[in-house]
Amino acid sequence: MTRPLEKLAGFLYRRSSLLYGAVLRARVAASGFMTRRECAACVQHSGIPGVRIGLDGLCGECREHSAGFDRNAIAHSAELFFSNAATESRTTDRPGGGPNVLVMLSGGKDSLAALALTARRKEARPLALMLDHGFLPEDVRGQAARFCERLGVELVVRQLDIRSDVARAWRRPGMNPFVCFPCCEAQAREALSICVKGGIRRIVTGLRWLWEDTFLPVTSAAFAYRYFRVPARSAIRILNIIPAGGMTERQELDLLAGHGLKFRHVGGDSTCCELFGLFEAEYRRRFGHYWEGERFLSKEIRAGVITKTEAREKLRAPEIPPEKEAEILRRAGIRT
Ligand SMILES: [Zn+2]
Repeated sequence: MTRPLEKLAGFLYRRSSLLYGAVLRARVAASGFMTRRECAACVQHSGIPGVRIGLDGLCGECREHSAGFDRNAIAHSAELFFSNAATESRTTDRPGGGPNVLVMLSGGKDSLAALALTARRKEARPLALMLDHGFLPEDVRGQAARFCERLGVELVVRQLDIRSDVARAWRRPGMNPFVCFPCCEAQAREALSICVKGGIRRIVTGLRWLWEDTFLPVTSAAFAYRYFRVPARSAIRILNIIPAGGMTERQELDLLAGHGLKFRHVGGDSTCCELFGLFEAEYRRRFGHYWEGERFLSKEIRAGVITKTEAREKLRAPEIPPEKEAEILRRAGIRT
């Protein structure tokens, strides 16, 4: 891009983010005066921009979800996902045919549970992909690597430098809470390249990829394209294995404990990424509220992973010690 164009793009970016921040603050202020109605099924409420609670007491997403949810169809599509993996994957010269399912590993509880569930399937020959963006604690990386070794699953680790993206997101006045975006985009790019090279057509993800408003365990072509840039005709399918199997978070934790795995909150509601809680805490400081948490946890409720009571527990503001925060910000290049 030429210099004047770059300047113009920077100007528009700053302007739009200033505007976004102002709108957000105004909405938070306005929602304080309104009588808040909460959805009967999830933790979304009328104070969240775009959320309307109908006469039936449900938010739009819950209403759409209850109309389209079919547990049998979900179980069937998850079965097809694996049975087709064996027949559709390209055969390679590697002994046993090479991997036919790629598991996206963040090192957190959901992705390790996804790996354990995938490894159980006789049709699956998993390969794990972990992106190290520099904000995964040492014990998280170590545990993930040891677990792969124990399961006999090959682990590919790629280093990723997202410091400039993190610093940019942090400095935006209308702060983008989705600090995960640059990281997930990079993960999706890597995943796709590994799939294309290895002839793999199945991707299994942890829970945090539950981004669609309506829960779809085997993702739609539109989702696959939007986040993974997977062309519709490539026949690559993505599975959220935990909700697809009807598994709750409690069952997931039991499964992981059975494998001797240990998890702790590394900051906020994340068991792997140090940036997650940091951004949530800062977002709450700036805007007084964190709607994204309510939105995201509501998806988990609709997916049947957690209950409304459990979601409320998770909605408590993260507590990050100031010295830990300063250290992460230094590492991200935000503070010196
Ligand atoms: Zn709802």
